[in-house]
Amino acid sequence: MTAFPLPPVRGKIIVNAPLAPYTWFRVGGPADALFLPADEEDLSAFLTALDPAVPVTVLGVGSNVIVRDGGIRGVVIRLMGKYWGMAQALDGITMEARAGALDLSVAKAAAQNGIRGLEFLSGIPGSIGGATRTNAGCYGRELRDTLVALHGFRRDGSPAAYRGPGKPGAQPEAHFSYRHTDLPDDLIVTRLILEGNGTDAPEAILSDIEQLQARRADTQPIKEKTSGSTFANPDPPGTPDQRSAWKLIDAAGCRGLKVGGAQVSPKHCNFLINTGDATAADLEALGELVRRRVLETQGVELRWEVRRVGQLASETA
Ligand SMILES: Cc1cc2nc3c(=O)[nH]c(=O)nc-3n(C[C@H](O)[C@H](O)[C@H](O)COP(=O)(O)OP(=O)(O)OC[C@H]3O[C@@H](n4cnc5c(N)ncnc54)[C@H](O)[C@@H]3O)c2cc1C
Repeated sequence: MTAFPLPPVRGKIIVNAPLAPYTWFRVGGPADALFLPADEEDLSAFLTALDPAVPVTVLGVGSNVIVRDGGIRGVVIRLMGKYWGMAQALDGITMEARAGALDLSVAKAAAQNGIRGLEFLSGIPGSIGGATRTNAGCYGRELRDTLVALHGFRRDGSPAAYRGPGKPGAQPEAHFSYRHTDLPDDLIVTRLILEGNGTDAPEAILSDIEQLQARRADTQPIKEKTSGSTFANPDPPGTPDQRSAWKLIDAAGCRGLKVGGAQVSPKHCNFLINTGDATAADLEALGELVRRRVLETQGVELRWEVRRVGQLASETA
């Protein structure tokens, strides 16, 4: 039972649903209700019928979030399952993907169809919906470089569509900056049209994807319970003498630093890791400690890149 009525759905609703299993950090409290919509129509009908006072939070595969220990009030929506995982080539260098498709699946589907320019997505372990919200990127390319159009729904269930930066069309243009978009906060992205920047033999593109992944495994703790880069680099890519968060953290002496079960990764010190029994509070306290030390010793105020969502345990007691 939730404190608010839940509209009927064709998908699945789980009440008092643990969220830790759905995040890379494996921490955090439960959602009042977790909704897995069957399709766009189900999602839109649910949002329209749900009491507007009930907060809604969307999660992808949880590779860029700390869900706090008190959990998330209201409804958490995940666009996961076969329907939401679709990624297919349209024509030429264009791809269509639903929001729950893993970035790696989109990169591989593009490669299998001989489309170049989406390989970078194979290095990002999120969903393409999450990649849109975070303007995910690596190796010199970001989601915005590939976006032709996106579709989704607002909190009231109404459909919304945006065109990619610089693309023609009647819809409003989506604006992106480094790991950020100014799309409305309540927009749930459901479907994207993406384009590559050329064509090549599928084997050649797939081989590049393998190399990118091997490079990642060498330099990042990708098998740990982590959430990738904790803090945004102070300067966006392309800035001359760009300051990187990991170098500042290292210089501040934080490599390997621990709070409870949370640790600054000894392998890549802009990654926090859950060494086994960390709470969300440990991870957040460690992040704040790192921010303080970097400010005191390097004079730079780091900005959280990992999104912290939900309530502290003390707020639910
Ligand atoms: C080992 C590791 C390496 C990483 N490397 C990189 C990297 O190189 N570059 C990079 O950019 N990131 C990197 N990340 C971070 C992360 O993978 C990306 O930010 C990713 O895009 C998040 O996607 P997600 O599905 O996990 O989203 P989540 O973490 O679940 O959510 C992130 C945000 O997106 C929102 N969101 C999710 N789905 C939707 C949707 N359908 N509509 C609207 N909003 C939505 C959520 O509300 C939340 O605000 C890394 C993470 C890990 C663990």
